[in-house]
Amino acid sequence: VYDLELNSVGKTYPDGTVAVSDFDLQVEKGEFVAFLGPSGCGKSTTLRMIAGFEDITNGDVMMMGQNVTHLPPEKRPTSMIFQNYALFPHMSVRENVAFGLDVKGMPKVEKNRKVDRILDMFDLEQFADRKADMLSGGQRQRIALARGLVVEPEILLLDEPLGALDANLRRIIQNELKLLQRELGITFIFVTHAQSEALGLSDRVVVMSNGVVEQVSSPKDLYRRP
Ligand code: ADP
Ligand code: ADP
Repeated sequence: VYDLELNSVGKTYPDGTVAVSDFDLQVEKGEFVAFLGPSGCGKSTTLRMIAGFEDITNGDVMMMGQNVTHLPPEKRPTSMIFQNYALFPHMSVRENVAFGLDVKGMPKVEKNRKVDRILDMFDLEQFADRKADMLSGGQRQRIALARGLVVEPEILLLDEPLGALDANLRRIIQNELKLLQRELGITFIFVTHAQSEALGLSDRVVVMSNGVVEQVSSPKDLYRRP
């Protein structure tokens, strides 16, 4: 049974825009899959449908064999990380990271233990009580990652998570993502318009254009003729 399965998934927006059609994909547990394509090709829409933030017009989304097509985001074994971090600027780093656990109503002792562990993992303990908007871009992206991971998702969804970082930080966070994949064994779906990121990070690349999947292959076979 696959960790994630998209069966003929499609999205037509209320204004008639067909953003995605007949998207088929099967993802194994622990795989790192990149969605690659130019701006407007439907990457974010697909990711948001997987997360449950966007209604699905056609098709089904399955996770570990369960049909989640009509489940709200908080009932899915997923976490989503956004390009602009989407942190609460006036909350502390600790409060931001704890947010997902608060939503689940987790008891305080267990919550604090999980938050401490993840802050330690991302080298953020010394910033725990600072306001999120007092930190640098790289630190904020780490907080966003910590917040996504603290709920222990099966599948981590990343929407251009490196887009706002400079080249140096991009390389650092890229390495951290690979480490996380190896250490946690969770499944990564990573959206990017940058070919180098897709090739450098992923086990498989899904190439999209105009709302359809053009090709699915390993990075090394991406430019090989069939
Ligand atoms: P990279 O270095 O990651 O390839 P670029 O610097 O080439 O990215 O991107 C140029 C600009 O185009 C970026 O500042 C980015 O804001 C914008 N851009 C291009 N495609 C997208 C997209 N799909 N989503 C958001 N911004 C994009
Ligand atoms: P990408 O992530 O690859 O840049 P998107 O999924 O954001 O692409 O967008 C896919 C298509 O859907 C684009 O044509 C975009 O303009 C359109 N689109 C995105 N959001 C909406 C919306 N809320 N209403 C109507 N059209 C939208």
